[in-house]
This record gives sequence, C-alpha cells and structure tokens, in this order.
Amino acid sequence: MEKNYLTKDKIIGKQVADTQAMIVGTVKDLSFDIVEKQIALTITTKDGEDINVESEAVNAIGDIILLSNTISELTKPTPAPQPPMSTPVPKPSSLPSPETPTETTSQDKPKPAKGLCASCGFQNEPTNKFCIKCGSKI
Ligand SMILES: [Zn+2]
Repeated sequence: MEKNYLTKDKIIGKQVADTQAMIVGTVKDLSFDIVEKQIALTITTKDGEDINVESEAVNAIGDIILLSNTISELTKPTPAPQPPMSTPVPKPSSLPSPETPTETTSQDKPKPAKGLCASCGFQNEPTNKFCIKCGSKI
C-alpha cells in the first residue's frame, strides 16, 4: 500500500468533517504520540475548543479531511471546565488607624504660684497665708 505523506502545511488549516458531513472545525496543528507512534490532529472546533483526533480516525484527506466517525465518538469527554476564579477577596472593613491620640500630659500644667493673691494679684512670699497688700486670704 502506497504511503501518502502529507506535509504539515497541507493539513493545517483544512476543514474537518465527520461521517455526517458536518464540518466540525479546522485543523490547528498536528500532535505526535512518539511512544504510540500515532499522529493526532488538533482540531479547533466551531466552539473554539481544541480537540485531538487520532490519525486512525481520518478516513480521507482531500479538500477537507473526512473522519471515519462522528466527532462526538472520537473525542473523549473533555475535563470539567475550571470554575472561574471569582472568589471575592474580602476587603478589610476598617483597619484600626495606627494613629493614637496624643495624650495631653497634664503634669506640666502650671501650678498657681504660691503666695499669689487672688484678689489683688500681689505676689506674696510663698509662706504667707494672707496678702500683705490687701489682707485677703491666700
Ligand atoms: Zn492681695
């Protein structure tokens, strides 16, 4: 049986149809399984999904690539789509402000000078109990 070698360029971009003549997508790339010695066609479907179809499933390559089975039977069930990363990051409601209210130290409050007369304002001796000017009690 004559081997039919095709270059990548002749395959990539071709439309792919299944047995029901439904265009399933276009060939995006070729994939190789070195161990199994298999070639798979990476097909971008109309939904924009990339699927791999083994070359054994290719029935004919002409203007379009005909598969030997329906696409749903050729493709394995795709893994479940990853849930969108929409976990809302909780915003810290209110950070405690680093500012601490500056306490006014009442220790350096000026004490009334001893001996100062409340009535006339005369500065008496600190030991005086009565103003020597007006006689008021200090
Ligand atoms: Zn006085």
